[in-house]
Amino acid sequence: MVQISRAVSRKDVGMRYSVWSLAKNALTGHRDWRPAWRDAAPKSSYDVVIVGGGGHGLATAYYLARVHGITNVALIEKGWIGGGNAGRNTTIIRSNYLLDGNIPFYELSMKLWEGLEQELNYNAMVSQRGVLNLFHNDGQRDAYVRRGNAMRLHGVDAELLDREGVRRMAPFLNFDHARFPIQGGLLQRRGGTARHDAVNWGYARAASALGVDIIQNCELTGFRRAPDGRVTGVETSRGAIGCRKAGVAVAGHSSRVAAMAGLRLPIESHVLQAFVSEALKPILPGVITFGAGHFYVSQSDKGGLVFGGDIDGYNSYAQRGNLSVVEDVCEGGMALMPMIGRARMLRSWGGIMDMSMDGSPIIDHTPVSGLYLNAGWCYGGFKATPASGWCFAHLIATDRAHAASSAYRLDRFARGYMIDEKGVGAQPNLH
Ligand SMILES: Cc1cc2nc3c(=O)[nH]c(=O)nc-3n(C[C@H](O)[C@H](O)[C@H](O)COP(=O)(O)OP(=O)(O)OC[C@H]3O[C@@H](n4cnc5c(N)ncnc54)[C@H](O)[C@@H]3O)c2cc1C
Repeated sequence: MVQISRAVSRKDVGMRYSVWSLAKNALTGHRDWRPAWRDAAPKSSYDVVIVGGGGHGLATAYYLARVHGITNVALIEKGWIGGGNAGRNTTIIRSNYLLDGNIPFYELSMKLWEGLEQELNYNAMVSQRGVLNLFHNDGQRDAYVRRGNAMRLHGVDAELLDREGVRRMAPFLNFDHARFPIQGGLLQRRGGTARHDAVNWGYARAASALGVDIIQNCELTGFRRAPDGRVTGVETSRGAIGCRKAGVAVAGHSSRVAAMAGLRLPIESHVLQAFVSEALKPILPGVITFGAGHFYVSQSDKGGLVFGGDIDGYNSYAQRGNLSVVEDVCEGGMALMPMIGRARMLRSWGGIMDMSMDGSPIIDHTPVSGLYLNAGWCYGGFKATPASGWCFAHLIATDRAHAASSAYRLDRFARGYMIDEKGVGAQPNLH
């Protein structure tokens, strides 16, 4: 049972605005405007240091303080919070997973999303507009029937639509002249989108209000270790900081940071790109994924079509991608909804994905005492943000895995207990 309460009040975060104060601030150059979170300087030591100011790190710091009462916490971020994948994703949230190790975790996340704005007292624009995965042949349909049944067995909503059901929702798709005709789709109505930046800001503000130090422009450069090997602190670009426990949530940089502690992870880093078109009138009812190629699309509240596809096929730590994937994604878009070719593209960007070897994440202790790892989110970690923070905070605070993340062990790769979600189902790249 997820307990969701309104933990952070307006008073906590120093919000004193009304229509009048908004007007006054606008007319006086925002002199009375307060930052949403404190820009903290590092102290000499903390109970816990969280490395990485993406959504996962921020959510972990918040739940450590809010759920476990551990407020002597620093979150260190080498750039600015939300500058990594947490601010670069295509904002899709869903819990339409197949495997036992995954469904309860992603459904916990969905439940946390459903109460997040009340919890943080922050508008994260959580919009349950539906996620529709299309299928184009009998084999894909069978795979989605299986997935839908697995979801329903876990109490997660799932509906199978036939071709006419899809046509009613999205009549503009290419039904009649397609090389791979649409046969139907698996719909999760509770899936949808959330405003990624707002999620980061909401967690940051709430964590800061509970006493967490959010320290930006502070890069981890190494770990301090006791003679018995346990972590006693972190070395950073702003000096050494002592800690009893360190939690790493650095996504695409996981292998680099783990190497600082002498660890080699079953993770490779790849670029994932995304694209946004000029603003159009509302046309897309929700998120749609193409089953016959790598393409998925939704429409932002500003009207832009937000879309993407597969990762770039080589390892990289650069936050920019290559043209072959641009071509591949656009081909997928044209095959699914040819009128997309009339829209002008506004911008594209890339983020560094922490690709685990079975497509599922790791939330676990490491072999180094006092060092905890949150990684391996591949292209699907935004939807996981609340549950990832919830479970990682539980692990760090109690030294026991949370039930919902108990399958996400680091040693599963050595033991052969893979959670091979990405290889199952018709469309591996569901985002
Ligand atoms: C184009 C794209 C589209 C995506 N679409 C979706 C989607 O629709 N739905 C979905 O669920 N997921 C999606 N994802 C994946 C999702 O964005 C990520 O899995 C998730 O945001 C990871 O969050 P995070 O907090 O772990 O990582 P990040 O937000 O990347 O945070 C890690 C932080 O660690 C910091 N850091 C790294 N090294 C250090 C260091 N040495 N010291 C201090 N700080 C350090 C980085 O600067 C970064 O800010 C997408 C990703 C991309 C790139």
